[in-house]
Amino acid sequence: MLSLQGDFAAHGAALERAGAQPVYVRERAQLAQIDGLVIPGGESTTMLKLLRYEGLFDDLAEFGRRKPMFGTCAGAILMAREVSHPSQESLGLVDIAVERNGYGRQIDSRVVEIDTTENFQQRTAPGKLEAVFIRAPIIRRITGSVERASVNVLARFAGDPVLIEQGPHLVATFHPELTSDSRVHELFLRKL
Ligand code: GLN
Repeated sequence: MLSLQGDFAAHGAALERAGAQPVYVRERAQLAQIDGLVIPGGESTTMLKLLRYEGLFDDLAEFGRRKPMFGTCAGAILMAREVSHPSQESLGLVDIAVERNGYGRQIDSRVVEIDTTENFQQRTAPGKLEAVFIRAPIIRRITGSVERASVNVLARFAGDPVLIEQGPHLVATFHPELTSDSRVHELFLRKL
């Protein structure tokens, strides 16, 4: 659990509910002790500055080439290949183009029901997901890449992907750590 900024405590609790023992990562040496990393929601620009300040940015990019990572909201922005509105640096671990605060006031902060795909339901349990959006980025495009695993859409809201996976990585533009449904965290834990 990357714990520099944002709602890492809620995520840690959700990981525990899903059966894991989170390590709260604040420095490079801790990366050697973990099987996968969650990047929480928060403020991606601030998190980026802290990653640079702690000398962790390149380590995370390298970690993501070897191990599973799960980014939610600001974490999704950090893991994306392209970021706009405004553009900023990112780890480029998943082939998506995101626009920050892309839903605008429409769902500035809202709880909605979202449709999950058959793939998601078969691997977890049937049913929609309750999704909390807080100044969420929108996934505008899947950028694609021939040498990588393809991007799978696992849930959509109003037609747009909001939960995707690519190879070992998982990305949600909403906050699964803020509801009692553990399916998304469980799915990530099964990737470790
Ligand atoms: N809008 C924030 C950003 O651009 C993300 C919001 C969130 O993580 N809840 O970083």
